[in-house]
Amino acid sequence: MSEKKLPLSSNEFINAIKDIPTPFHLYDEKAIIDNAKAFKEAFAWAPGFTNFFAVKACPNPSIIKRLAALGFGADCSSLPELLLSKASGITGERIVFTSNDTPAEEFRVAYELGAIINLDDVTHIDYLYNALGGRFPELICFRYNPGPDRTGNAIIGNPVEAKYGVTKSQLFDCYRKAKALGAKRFGLHTMVASNELNGDYIVETARMLFTLVNEIKKELDIDIEFIDMGGGIGIPYRLEDERIDLNELSSKIEKLYKDYNQKVRLTFECGRMITGPYGYLVTKALHVTSKYKEYVGLDACMSDLMRPALYGSYHHITVVGKEDMPKDHVYDVTGSLCENNDKFAIDRKLPKVDEGDIIVIHDTGAHGFSMGFNYNAKLRHAEYLLTADKKLVMIRRAETYDDYVKTLRFEGAEVEV
Ligand SMILES: *Cc1c(COP(=O)(O)O)cnc(C)c1O
Repeated sequence: MSEKKLPLSSNEFINAIKDIPTPFHLYDEKAIIDNAKAFKEAFAWAPGFTNFFAVKACPNPSIIKRLAALGFGADCSSLPELLLSKASGITGERIVFTSNDTPAEEFRVAYELGAIINLDDVTHIDYLYNALGGRFPELICFRYNPGPDRTGNAIIGNPVEAKYGVTKSQLFDCYRKAKALGAKRFGLHTMVASNELNGDYIVETARMLFTLVNEIKKELDIDIEFIDMGGGIGIPYRLEDERIDLNELSSKIEKLYKDYNQKVRLTFECGRMITGPYGYLVTKALHVTSKYKEYVGLDACMSDLMRPALYGSYHHITVVGKEDMPKDHVYDVTGSLCENNDKFAIDRKLPKVDEGDIIVIHDTGAHGFSMGFNYNAKLRHAEYLLTADKKLVMIRRAETYDDYVKTLRFEGAEVEV
């Protein structure tokens, strides 16, 4: 493959978007739904299989609702994410609320919604008990950090350095303590990988959790009801990357499930692999300049997609309509922030770019819009859905200046406290 595909042919694409101001995010409904279904079908053998979609990947109710209709749950880590899930029709134990530095109020709302609460530390047990006014959930889950037993990967880092989760000995204390406070149902969570493309790494996570489930049964006589493998299934950002074969992943996990004599429910919290490849940041080349290097300046900036600046991530770039032209130019593709790392790509080979060319940045359907911010008073842009019947539907309007200043207290409205 020498080019990544768009959901429409170049001509159809340019025609379809001609009345929409760039930049904007575009999601491909059919591809997201087909992909979500394929994930579920791959794990059809696993009793009660659920993916709690990581809301932070694409926090738009139009997307979350469509996933909810397929039986997906929601993985939340903040109060607004809880409320968005509720607004998208996901409540109760279809929500898993993963804490780390969580305020009491957020625990209370998660509890009232009946969400599964996933605790990140042994001290959070008392914190939660106090936050709930001396009550404790009947169902509780703990996040396990295997530390030196696993290597971790590039984005999430070495587990020993990770702020998340409890150590192995703490984990047993956690279940003991929670049981003493009245918990009767238990889950076990971990997340040791992010954007992982090696399926066997994820199979080993299943083995690690199955082993723990059996150890917990033996040592504490506690039946773990479900395991949550976290998110982290990767996507092929680069042309040469290969996606994980979900059927192969599933059958390897199924074999272990039987070998380890499991009865647990198997769940994931994948966000990236559900929506990531089916989102596009659609931009226009504003300026093509030549200095010590060659630059293509876009109308989008890192507040529309900060992964390249934050992690040095690769996102493939297509100059729409020039897919078949030789990539004989080398550009830095930049945004307009007063930050030199506001670059979508460095030394990228592209066909000759002209002002006004439509430039699509690929694989922005997860951790794209949602990482946006307002530095330089940049306003966040709109999101559109390309529906299965090829209509373009706005699912979030662009921010306006009025949105930006809504929280300000201008002179005369300043509040003394
Ligand atoms: C970010 C996150 C996820 C989703 O990760 P993906 O890479 O999008 O699959 C799931 N669970 C937790 C706890 C997370 O922090």
